Amino acid sequence: MSHEINNIAVLTSGGDAPGMNAAIRAVTRTALYHGRRVYGVYRGYEGMIENDLVELNTASVKHILAQGGTFLKSARSQEFRTPEGRAKAAQNLKDRDIDALVVIGGDGSFTGALKLADEHGIKVIGVPGTIDNDLYGTDFTIGYDTATNTVIESVDKIRDTASSHNRLFLVEVMGRDTGYIAASTGLATGALSIILPEKKATYEELFADLKSAQAHKKTSNIIMVAEGNHLGDIFEIAAAVRNEFPEMDVKVTTLGHTQRGGSPTTNDRVLASVLGHYAVKGLLEGKQKVMAGMINQKVVFTSLENAISKTTELDEEMLTIAKILAT
Ligand code: ATP
Repeated sequence: MSHEINNIAVLTSGGDAPGMNAAIRAVTRTALYHGRRVYGVYRGYEGMIENDLVELNTASVKHILAQGGTFLKSARSQEFRTPEGRAKAAQNLKDRDIDALVVIGGDGSFTGALKLADEHGIKVIGVPGTIDNDLYGTDFTIGYDTATNTVIESVDKIRDTASSHNRLFLVEVMGRDTGYIAASTGLATGALSIILPEKKATYEELFADLKSAQAHKKTSNIIMVAEGNHLGDIFEIAAAVRNEFPEMDVKVTTLGHTQRGGSPTTNDRVLASVLGHYAVKGLLEGKQKVMAGMINQKVVFTSLENAISKTTELDEEMLTIAKILAT
């Protein structure tokens, strides 16, 4: 293994996701195993600019594997978007002889990491940590499995009350730009319709689904709605449905930040542990400006540039199957 890496820093950035702690633990213990010093950066790039770093040892990351959130905390930093902010951040790393950085986050965090690498020669590597599952170069991102399990647990409960009262529930889930959470949880909960950012839904289609449900005498219905859908705000959609179907008892549930919390599932703990481990291994083998991901159960390194700019198409068949099975 190469000896070009001295000290390694790790941070979590952007939206928090369950499993980030497991990834920090894996990065820390793998780096220590290989005889490197490890520093945790608090509050993402904000903390890097403010020199809010702490040296981590084995005990620093004990008992965090099962905890949701991120003990290093996450933040969004405007100052890091400026060259001056990044210069300050890089200097704080260099003062500690830190020449490599593991960034656990989403595409925005990786964009910032690339700039830090290009402008200041820091060796960066990414670990996909976001509940949205919207990164190219990995089948799943850390946090997605836990978030979707949280959604289906809530929707199963909603379904109980929907059935008891003959109600229609519109359920809003996270996904400003992508609808992976809505699509998979819609299929997993038997939603009548799934409304996503990727597809221009129309009221005609939605009303047709509802009429079909009425024709089949369905007694409870769930419509899964991603935040960034094209029909608009969920309360506006509910108003339009009430207007068209005045006889229906229409309710709205917004699951909101419950989707970010909770103890990570087995899948997320395993993914975070493996990718955190390989991020450090990759750095020590000379890899940089790449993201460690998992494709078909194999660890794959994808350039950060591709991870940021390319998209994985939503599996349209999942929507077709959901439609066939729900009516
Ligand atoms: P999520 O997918 O959960 O939203 P993310 O990593 O995409 O995660 P962002 O808020 O987009 O979250 O980015 C996190 C941080 O990365 C920003 O607050 C900013 O400090 C840094 N960053 C994002 N875009 C850039 C950019 N173009 N240049 C420099 N830094 C950036």
